[in-house]
Amino acid sequence: MHYPFFSGTASPGTRGPHPDGASAGTDGGFADPAAARLARLRQRMAWPSGGPEAVDATERGLDHEELLSLTRGDLIGAIEFGHIYPVFQPQISAQHGGIVGLEVLARWSDKGRHHAPDKFVGSITSHGVETLLLDHFLGACGRVRTRFPQYTGRFSLNVNPRTAAAAGFVQGFVRASMSHGLDIARVVLELTEQTRISRGSEARLLENLSALSARGMVISQDDFGSGYASLQALGLLPFKQVKVDKILLHRARHAERARRLFFSSMALARSLELQTVAEGVESPDDVTLARSLGADLLQGYAISPPMPFERLQL
Ligand code: C2E
Ligand code: CA
Ligand code: CA
Repeated sequence: MHYPFFSGTASPGTRGPHPDGASAGTDGGFADPAAARLARLRQRMAWPSGGPEAVDATERGLDHEELLSLTRGDLIGAIEFGHIYPVFQPQISAQHGGIVGLEVLARWSDKGRHHAPDKFVGSITSHGVETLLLDHFLGACGRVRTRFPQYTGRFSLNVNPRTAAAAGFVQGFVRASMSHGLDIARVVLELTEQTRISRGSEARLLENLSALSARGMVISQDDFGSGYASLQALGLLPFKQVKVDKILLHRARHAERARRLFFSSMALARSLELQTVAEGVESPDDVTLARSLGADLLQGYAISPPMPFERLQL
């Protein structure tokens, strides 16, 4: 299997047929049993001329069952053909209001149907293709950098800890950022879903994140305050940023107890000298609340929805 991420042969990516800025697929690199399946995929999934907007929205796309039974080849095809593509959501400074970051989020459009990332991102991780997705997204970040040379902020990419703990992850990531002309010090790696990982993986995760952090990458704890995004991880891994789970902010609108929880999370992060991000900021009241509770950065619909490359204004 050919992985540009690890082989260092990734090109900066030519603009693909997809209006969301994902790169075009190539025929090369699939010299494995998935090739036949990919050929079928090409027929089933290729956009007609005019891109996805030109597709009849009633035409059948992937349904729930199909999403559940996705194979590795399906996912690779969808990434390579640009059906899975990045959107960018700005993060602003709570102090001066300028855009200081862009979170890259995955979208999948298939024949007029749009699939939420929580429906397919798990499969991307479990089939071991998250590095391929990251490679494509780093390429898209490189294009944003080229299009908006005046933008000096960071690019936040989501990654599952299992992927980040893999052998070769650091070298692959460094190589991919370089090949896309992106300074690794401008990358934030948001660790999502803190699935329980083995002790061995935990040690490798620490090793990998420490190596990336030493190169200037910002490691961020996503969804802090939910599930496994725990205090324990905060003590163990070299985080420089914490994103407090949006549910906490939403509850803090109405409940004093939740407000205190949110505030305490911020205070804890500050005491560890971590930058804090409030996500899910949906209204001017949320902006006021998140600022009063001590967030350094704000992200959410009140500021901007996630936007495809074409609609991005920086
Ligand atoms: P997340 O990393 O916590 O991303 C924030 C989610 O909140 C995004 O949902 C975003 O579209 C949504 N959001 C943004 N502003 C607001 C707001 O004001 N209010 C509310 N209620 N929601 C807001 P999305 O794009 O559906 O992504 C869901 C989750 O899927 C992400 O949560 C992340 O965990 C995962 N995900 C998305 N893209 C990727 C990816 O490329 N790689 C990995 N590993 N995970 C991804
Ligand atoms: Ca995130
Ligand atoms: Ca989050």
